[in-house]
Amino acid sequence: MIPKIFIVGFGPGSRDHITDRARQAIVESQVILGYHTYIELVKEWITDQEIERTGMTEEVSRAQKAVELAKAGQTVAVVSSGDAGVYGMAGLIYEVLAEQGWHPSEPPEVEVVPGIPAINSCASLLGAPIMHDACTISLSDHLTPWEVIERRIEAAASADFVIALYNPKSGRRTSQIAEAQRILLKYRSPNTPVGLVKSAYRDRQVVVRTNLAEMLDHEIGMLTTVIIGNSATFMHDDIMITPRGYQRKYQLDSAEQALSPRERLRVDNEPWSLLAKESGSSTQDLAEEALLRMTSPKSSF
Ligand code: SAH
Repeated sequence: MIPKIFIVGFGPGSRDHITDRARQAIVESQVILGYHTYIELVKEWITDQEIERTGMTEEVSRAQKAVELAKAGQTVAVVSSGDAGVYGMAGLIYEVLAEQGWHPSEPPEVEVVPGIPAINSCASLLGAPIMHDACTISLSDHLTPWEVIERRIEAAASADFVIALYNPKSGRRTSQIAEAQRILLKYRSPNTPVGLVKSAYRDRQVVVRTNLAEMLDHEIGMLTTVIIGNSATFMHDDIMITPRGYQRKYQLDSAEQALSPRERLRVDNEPWSLLAKESGSSTQDLAEEALLRMTSPKSSF
């Protein structure tokens, strides 16, 4: 065995959504470290590996323990749900190593095994809500001042990002989600589609479609990710869809497109682009003309 730390993201928590590499890392390790719920979710790949279960708030000691065991020559896997680099264990383990003066060329070897993060697994159950620029914001203020979180919600809301809220609520943290809703309503319509996904791809999965005004009428907890649409997001039955762009360059209802693929990328057909602005051609007239060209039948041009 080699002194090595696998930092494993096992995805949402179903056997179909864990990668081969993550499975292999768990199988090949001598010791598995993780929050006890996470150990449960990967137990089918644990045979005679030693298990170190820790509580949710014991991340620092878990990271220190992983480093200590690897330095003593063991191969260890630290398991996180989703991706270990997204509010997971990856940063903390590197921080502990850096603090001890470790360099990447020395043992222990470290491998971060990527996994599907909650923003993606939850989005897939709702439809296609994160097709455009999106961000994640954790509402946990245990390690981050609330003012910083508030500023980020404000920035993301005003810049029209699709937003995935992680750690939205827990037994003791109940008002953060209401504050987030209040800030979002300053910038977005009360009808903005919102998806609430609890325990994606696990036994107790719950998927709720609601809107910004009514989202707090539903259960939101520690295992929920809240996905807030942007100003263009819409619902089609129970599918949440964010268009790929704000400008409608395509006719979805006709086999023939008004603009050929070559024409589509021409600067005068994109009067909203930076290139158009730089070339000074972005006058109101040009913009209107371009939009007309795109929405009129091809034969008229
Ligand atoms: N590393 C994880 C995030 C851990 S933070 C990732 O990449 O997804 C914990 C938060 O993640 C939870 O509060 C919840 O908001 C979200 N989360 C993790 N797994 C989830 C799942 N299966 N379904 C819904 N949300 C999940």
